[in-house]
Amino acid sequence: IFISFEGPDGGGKTTQITKTAAKLREMGRDVVVTREPGGTDLGESIREILLDPGQKDVSDRAEVLLYAASRAQHVFQVIGPAIKAGKVVLCDRFVDSSIAYQGFGRGLDLDFISSVNLQATEGTVPQLTLLLDIPAEQGLVRAKGTGRPDRMEKEAIKFHREVRQGYLWLKEQHPHRFRLIDATNAPEQVFNKVWAEVAKVLGG
Ligand code: C5P
Ligand code: MG
Repeated sequence: IFISFEGPDGGGKTTQITKTAAKLREMGRDVVVTREPGGTDLGESIREILLDPGQKDVSDRAEVLLYAASRAQHVFQVIGPAIKAGKVVLCDRFVDSSIAYQGFGRGLDLDFISSVNLQATEGTVPQLTLLLDIPAEQGLVRAKGTGRPDRMEKEAIKFHREVRQGYLWLKEQHPHRFRLIDATNAPEQVFNKVWAEVAKVLGG
Protein backbone atom coordinates (compact mmCIF):
# COMPACT_ATOMS: atom_id res chain seq x y z
CA ILE A 1 0.00 0.00 0.00
CA PHE A 2 1.33 3.38 -1.03
CA ILE A 3 0.02 6.57 0.60
CA SER A 4 1.33 10.07 -0.11
CA PHE A 5 0.97 13.17 2.05
CA GLU A 6 0.80 16.42 0.12
CA GLY A 7 0.07 20.08 0.60
CA PRO A 8 1.57 23.54 0.92
CA ASP A 9 4.47 24.22 3.28
CA GLY A 10 3.46 24.31 6.93
CA GLY A 11 0.47 21.98 6.63
CA GLY A 12 1.94 19.53 9.12
CA LYS A 13 2.66 16.63 6.76
CA THR A 14 5.60 15.37 8.77
CA THR A 15 3.65 15.43 12.06
CA GLN A 16 0.76 13.50 10.52
CA ILE A 17 3.02 10.92 8.89
CA THR A 18 4.74 10.29 12.22
CA LYS A 19 1.40 9.77 13.97
CA THR A 20 0.10 7.55 11.20
CA ALA A 21 3.23 5.39 11.22
CA ALA A 22 3.08 4.97 15.00
CA LYS A 23 -0.53 3.81 14.90
CA LEU A 24 0.10 1.42 12.02
CA ARG A 25 3.06 -0.10 13.85
CA GLU A 26 0.94 -0.55 16.98
CA MET A 27 -1.35 -2.61 14.77
CA GLY A 28 1.64 -4.71 13.73
CA ARG A 29 1.92 -3.35 10.18
CA ASP A 30 5.27 -3.13 8.47
CA VAL A 31 5.65 0.59 7.68
CA VAL A 32 8.16 2.53 5.60
CA VAL A 33 8.24 6.28 6.20
CA THR A 34 10.04 8.29 3.59
CA ARG A 35 10.15 11.74 1.98
CA GLU A 36 10.86 13.76 -1.14
CA PRO A 37 13.06 15.24 -2.22
CA GLY A 38 15.20 12.65 -0.46
CA GLY A 39 14.49 9.14 0.76
CA THR A 40 17.79 7.68 -0.51
CA ASP A 41 21.44 8.75 -0.19
CA LEU A 42 21.35 10.13 -3.73
CA GLY A 43 17.98 11.78 -3.10
CA GLU A 44 19.17 13.43 0.11
CA SER A 45 22.17 14.84 -1.77
CA ILE A 46 19.83 16.23 -4.42
CA ARG A 47 17.62 17.63 -1.65
CA GLU A 48 20.55 19.60 -0.25
CA ILE A 49 21.21 21.14 -3.64
CA LEU A 50 17.55 21.97 -4.23
CA LEU A 51 16.85 23.57 -0.87
CA ASP A 52 20.11 25.46 -0.40
CA PRO A 53 19.17 29.16 -0.16
CA GLY A 54 22.62 29.95 -1.61
CA GLN A 55 21.73 28.10 -4.84
CA LYS A 56 20.93 30.96 -7.23
CA ASP A 57 19.44 31.08 -10.75
CA VAL A 58 18.31 27.44 -10.86
CA SER A 59 16.57 26.94 -14.20
CA ASP A 60 12.93 25.83 -13.88
CA ARG A 61 13.55 22.81 -16.09
CA ALA A 62 16.70 21.82 -14.23
CA GLU A 63 14.66 22.00 -11.02
CA VAL A 64 11.98 19.66 -12.42
CA LEU A 65 14.63 17.19 -13.51
CA LEU A 66 16.41 17.24 -10.15
CA TYR A 67 13.17 16.44 -8.32
CA ALA A 68 12.50 13.72 -10.88
CA ALA A 69 16.00 12.28 -10.47
CA SER A 70 15.51 12.07 -6.71
CA ARG A 71 12.13 10.41 -7.32
CA ALA A 72 13.46 7.88 -9.83
CA GLN A 73 16.06 6.67 -7.35
CA HIS A 74 13.44 6.65 -4.59
CA VAL A 75 11.01 4.46 -6.53
CA PHE A 76 13.79 2.15 -7.68
CA GLN A 77 15.50 1.73 -4.32
CA VAL A 78 12.82 2.22 -1.64
CA ILE A 79 9.20 2.63 -2.73
CA GLY A 80 9.01 -0.06 -5.41
CA PRO A 81 10.62 -2.82 -3.31
CA ALA A 82 8.55 -1.91 -0.21
CA ILE A 83 5.28 -2.07 -2.16
CA LYS A 84 6.28 -5.44 -3.61
CA ALA A 85 7.08 -6.70 -0.10
CA GLY A 86 3.56 -5.78 1.03
CA LYS A 87 4.62 -2.96 3.33
CA VAL A 88 2.70 0.26 3.96
CA VAL A 89 4.65 3.12 2.40
CA LEU A 90 3.98 6.61 3.77
CA CYS A 91 5.62 9.24 1.62
CA ASP A 92 6.02 12.92 2.48
CA ARG A 93 5.42 14.41 -1.04
CA PHE A 94 5.45 12.68 -4.43
CA VAL A 95 4.68 13.59 -8.08
CA ASP A 96 1.81 15.90 -7.10
CA SER A 97 4.34 18.23 -5.45
CA SER A 98 6.06 18.70 -8.80
CA ILE A 99 2.77 19.55 -10.49
CA ALA A 100 1.84 21.98 -7.72
CA TYR A 101 5.24 23.67 -7.19
CA GLN A 102 6.94 23.53 -10.57
CA GLY A 103 3.74 23.45 -12.64
CA PHE A 104 1.45 25.89 -10.86
CA GLY A 105 4.07 27.73 -8.79
CA ARG A 106 6.64 28.21 -11.57
CA GLY A 107 4.20 28.00 -14.45
CA LEU A 108 5.96 25.17 -16.24
CA ASP A 109 4.18 23.04 -18.81
CA LEU A 110 2.20 20.33 -17.00
CA ASP A 111 2.70 17.82 -19.82
CA PHE A 112 6.47 18.19 -19.52
CA ILE A 113 6.34 17.55 -15.77
CA SER A 114 3.92 14.64 -16.12
CA SER A 115 5.88 12.88 -18.81
CA VAL A 116 9.23 13.24 -17.03
CA ASN A 117 7.66 11.89 -13.85
CA LEU A 118 5.91 9.04 -15.62
CA GLN A 119 9.35 7.90 -16.74
CA ALA A 120 10.91 8.52 -13.33
CA THR A 121 8.27 6.56 -11.42
CA GLU A 122 7.58 3.88 -14.05
CA GLY A 123 3.93 4.69 -13.50
CA THR A 124 3.93 4.20 -9.73
CA VAL A 125 0.93 6.07 -8.26
CA PRO A 126 -0.25 6.20 -4.63
CA GLN A 127 -3.56 4.50 -3.76
CA LEU A 128 -4.36 7.40 -1.47
CA THR A 129 -3.14 11.01 -1.39
CA LEU A 130 -3.93 13.05 1.70
CA LEU A 131 -3.98 16.75 0.88
CA LEU A 132 -3.28 18.68 4.07
CA ASP A 133 -4.73 21.97 2.96
CA ILE A 134 -3.79 25.30 4.49
CA PRO A 135 -3.83 28.87 3.11
CA ALA A 136 -0.37 29.97 1.96
CA GLU A 137 -0.01 32.75 4.55
CA GLN A 138 -0.88 30.51 7.47
CA GLY A 139 1.31 27.69 6.25
CA LEU A 140 4.36 29.89 5.84
CA VAL A 141 4.03 31.30 9.34
CA ARG A 142 4.04 27.73 10.66
CA ALA A 143 6.88 26.58 8.43
CA LYS A 144 9.09 29.48 9.51
CA GLY A 145 8.91 28.24 13.08
CA THR A 146 10.71 25.02 12.11
CA GLY A 147 14.16 26.42 11.30
CA ARG A 148 16.11 28.31 8.68
CA PRO A 149 13.84 28.98 5.68
CA ASP A 150 14.77 26.82 2.68
CA ARG A 151 15.05 28.17 -0.87
CA MET A 152 11.35 27.53 -1.58
CA GLU A 153 10.04 29.09 1.58
CA LYS A 154 11.72 32.31 0.49
CA GLU A 155 9.57 32.47 -2.63
CA ALA A 156 6.97 35.27 -2.85
CA ILE A 157 3.56 34.68 -1.29
CA LYS A 158 2.09 34.66 -4.81
CA PHE A 159 4.13 31.54 -5.60
CA HIS A 160 2.77 29.74 -2.55
CA ARG A 161 -0.79 30.78 -3.39
CA GLU A 162 -0.40 29.28 -6.87
CA VAL A 163 0.96 26.09 -5.31
CA ARG A 164 -2.13 25.75 -3.16
CA GLN A 165 -4.38 26.34 -6.17
CA GLY A 166 -2.40 23.63 -7.95
CA TYR A 167 -3.18 21.16 -5.22
CA LEU A 168 -6.89 22.04 -5.26
CA TRP A 169 -6.87 21.55 -9.03
CA LEU A 170 -5.15 18.16 -8.66
CA LYS A 171 -7.80 17.08 -6.19
CA GLU A 172 -10.49 17.82 -8.80
CA GLN A 173 -8.53 15.87 -11.41
CA HIS A 174 -8.11 12.79 -9.20
CA PRO A 175 -11.19 12.64 -6.96
CA HIS A 176 -10.77 8.92 -6.22
CA ARG A 177 -7.18 9.18 -5.07
CA PHE A 178 -7.26 12.58 -3.28
CA ARG A 179 -8.77 13.37 0.10
CA LEU A 180 -8.85 16.99 1.20
CA ILE A 181 -8.12 17.53 4.88
CA ASP A 182 -8.34 20.93 6.58
CA ALA A 183 -4.90 21.32 8.12
CA THR A 184 -5.69 24.56 9.96
CA ASN A 185 -7.22 22.55 12.81
CA ALA A 186 -5.33 21.16 15.82
CA PRO A 187 -2.98 18.24 15.01
CA GLU A 188 -5.11 15.70 16.92
CA GLN A 189 -8.22 16.74 15.01
CA VAL A 190 -6.36 16.56 11.71
CA PHE A 191 -5.06 13.11 12.63
CA ASN A 192 -8.57 11.79 13.26
CA LYS A 193 -9.44 12.70 9.66
CA VAL A 194 -6.17 11.29 8.34
CA TRP A 195 -6.68 8.03 10.18
CA ALA A 196 -10.25 7.63 8.97
CA GLU A 197 -8.97 7.72 5.38
CA VAL A 198 -5.99 5.46 6.01
CA ALA A 199 -8.25 2.91 7.74
CA LYS A 200 -10.50 2.79 4.66
CA VAL A 201 -7.58 1.98 2.40
CA LEU A 202 -6.27 -0.70 4.78
CA GLY A 203 -9.69 -2.27 4.90
CA GLY A 204 -9.43 -2.81 1.14
O1 C5P B 1 7.93 19.26 2.65
P1 C5P B 1 9.33 19.72 2.85
O2 C5P B 1 9.43 20.92 3.72
O3 C5P B 1 10.25 18.63 3.24
O4 C5P B 1 9.78 20.16 1.38
C1 C5P B 1 10.99 20.76 1.18
C2 C5P B 1 10.84 22.01 0.35
O5 C5P B 1 10.82 21.70 -1.02
C3 C5P B 1 9.62 22.82 0.65
O6 C5P B 1 10.01 24.17 0.85
C4 C5P B 1 8.80 22.71 -0.62
O7 C5P B 1 8.14 23.90 -0.83
C5 C5P B 1 9.84 22.44 -1.69
N1 C5P B 1 9.39 21.63 -2.81
C6 C5P B 1 9.31 22.19 -4.08
N2 C5P B 1 8.94 21.41 -5.14
C7 C5P B 1 8.66 20.11 -4.99
C8 C5P B 1 8.75 19.54 -3.71
C9 C5P B 1 9.13 20.32 -2.64
O8 C5P B 1 9.53 23.37 -4.24
N3 C5P B 1 8.34 19.39 -6.05
MG1 MG C 1 9.44 22.56 4.64
